[in-house]
Amino acid sequence: MSLTDGHVAALADQAAAAVEPSLTVHIEPDAGDDPYRWGAHSWTVTFRSEDGEGVAVRLTADEEPLPALRKLLEAVSELGATQPSSGRALPACPGHDHRADVEIEEDEVVLRCPETGDVIGRIRPELSP
Ligand SMILES: [Zn+2]
Repeated sequence: MSLTDGHVAALADQAAAAVEPSLTVHIEPDAGDDPYRWGAHSWTVTFRSEDGEGVAVRLTADEEPLPALRKLLEAVSELGATQPSSGRALPACPGHDHRADVEIEEDEVVLRCPETGDVIGRIRPELSP
C-alpha cells in the first residue's frame, strides 16, 4: 500500500495524541504535487509545541504505516529532547525522567521504558478511509 494525505494526517495526529496532545501538527505536501516532477509523493510533517519549538519529519508515499508512525513518534521525542526547561521527557515514561524507547512490535508501535523494560504504551496505526 502507499500512504495518502489522509493517512499521513491520521498518523501524525495519532503520534501527537499519544505523546503530547498540545502539539500542533502541520503537514506540507512536497514535490509530488508538481505535475512536472516525478518521484514518490512526500510530506513534511512538523510538530510544534506551545512554546514554539518545532521538529520536522519527512514521509514518503512508499512508506508503510507502521514505520511511518514510529518515525513520527521518534521526531516527537526529539522535540522533547530539545526542551530541557520543560522538565518533560517525550514520550513520557511514567515515574521516570527519561524518554521511553520507540519500538515496533508486530503490528504496533510500542513505547518501552529503557530501564525496566515495561511497556508503557502501544499505538496501532489507524488510517482513516
Ligand atoms: Zn522509565
